[in-house]
Amino acid sequence: MSFLAELGAALPDGTVLTDPDVTDRFRMDRTTWLTPGCPVAVALPTTTAEVAAAVKVAATHRVPIVPRGAGSSLCGGSQAIDGALTLSLERMDRIVDLDTADELVVVEPGVMNADITRATSEHGLFYPPDPASRDFCSIGGNVATNAGGLCCVKYGVTRDYVQRLEVVLADGTVIETGHDTVKGVAGLDMTGLFVGSEGTLGIVTRAMLRLRRRPSGAATMVAFFPTLTAAGRAVASIAGSELTPSLMEIMDRATVNVVEDALGMGLDREAASLLLLQSDAPEPLRGTEVARAAELCSSAGASYTAATEDPDEAEALMQARRMAGPVLEQLGELIWDDVGVRRSRIPALLGRIEEAGERHGAQVQTFGHAGDGNMHPTLLVPRDDPDARRRALLAFDDIVEAALDLGGTITGEHGVGSIKAPFLEREVGRANLALQRRIKRTLDPDGLLNPGRWL
Ligand SMILES: Cc1cc2nc3c(=O)[nH]c(=O)nc-3n(C[C@H](O)[C@H](O)[C@H](O)COP(=O)(O)OP(=O)(O)OC[C@H]3O[C@@H](n4cnc5c(N)ncnc54)[C@H](O)[C@@H]3O)c2cc1C
Repeated sequence: MSFLAELGAALPDGTVLTDPDVTDRFRMDRTTWLTPGCPVAVALPTTTAEVAAAVKVAATHRVPIVPRGAGSSLCGGSQAIDGALTLSLERMDRIVDLDTADELVVVEPGVMNADITRATSEHGLFYPPDPASRDFCSIGGNVATNAGGLCCVKYGVTRDYVQRLEVVLADGTVIETGHDTVKGVAGLDMTGLFVGSEGTLGIVTRAMLRLRRRPSGAATMVAFFPTLTAAGRAVASIAGSELTPSLMEIMDRATVNVVEDALGMGLDREAASLLLLQSDAPEPLRGTEVARAAELCSSAGASYTAATEDPDEAEALMQARRMAGPVLEQLGELIWDDVGVRRSRIPALLGRIEEAGERHGAQVQTFGHAGDGNMHPTLLVPRDDPDARRRALLAFDDIVEAALDLGGTITGEHGVGSIKAPFLEREVGRANLALQRRIKRTLDPDGLLNPGRWL
């Protein structure tokens, strides 16, 4: 039997799509400057057993598989590959169990990140990892990329919240990893192995996630700086202080102007950068924390600071930050970079980013998670301008090299995907990469899971 005939027989009617008009929406992710391939089919299973059945058929026929969540990848991780099966988890979108006593939730991979916090907030709980894409990215994708977000500076990243996983391996075997208990050290940390493996080691079909008590509110501070270096100094000095902000985000002048054009919030268009900080400590400590942060910003050279505990004002500022990417996406083709350095090296990184843009005549906007030292220098390319794209990609490479020169990482949260693979060896070293390849071969000897990404 042919691959498609066998796949169709293994899955319920309506689960396998082959009409290009219908499968087209599964080809692209948000790495819009890369050209996606054409999948041989798209499977939309609704149970773990169906995922396992599809994987077994693909393994028998040596057909590669692209696991796909909500397709918001910025590193080409979920783009279709010519002749591969795209396995979309979007129909596995149930919250299976909410255990408020133990502060745990069990979800299928297609549940959207923001839906977990929406579903748990009435119980006074929340799920901390909050990518700016939280309304349009899935938990399966978050686990596969070890996603970060805005409040990770205080609460940590996805890895810190994954307690158990159910995973379908490359031969269709289903395994469970992790422990039901808070502590548990039996065996190797297989959960940790799958978190951040970008769909190359297994397909996540269920996740048990830790929740936290929802803070009662937050105080918010905004500061504007005349130079990027002054903003970098402020970040370094807050990071080295007694404060524990729950969020510390930065936007440069170009980003502020683009956001201001779109939202008209009265942001200072002349400032070199804007720093946004929140404290969700209990009252009255949060007010004290933002006041102290404002003092540190002023000492570092801020031209203006303001604080608020009004939730609507705070949400408007947060929206300005979250909209930076989507607003820029309206203006042209975006090549997102995602590099990280120690927080004390942010000023040096920002300087190198500016130089890279100038050197190649590329338009670069920088915003990101300053509290984690994780920056998103984003190159804006006019559509249908191959020369501008070529120059932007040269600047992209220089920015990645700059992060490595500064002892940082080629990707803080978006993943290696298709676009950063050439840089991986320089970051992790040859022997480490060889070991990673051996692990990949052990779990996926025929190299069928998300080939061409990462390794
Ligand atoms: C405007 C914007 C803002 C963003 N902000 C952030 C941010 O703040 N922080 C951040 O970390 N990221 C951010 N991202 C990137 C993106 O949203 C994340 O990488 C997210 O985790 C991807 O989730 P997804 O469901 O869309 O996954 P997809 O794009 O569908 O897939 C991403 C990767 O995960 C794999 N995968 C997906 N589901 C599974 C599964 N069930 N099992 C195994 N592998 C799977 C895919 O093969 C692929 O390698 C942003 C993206 C955009 C467009």
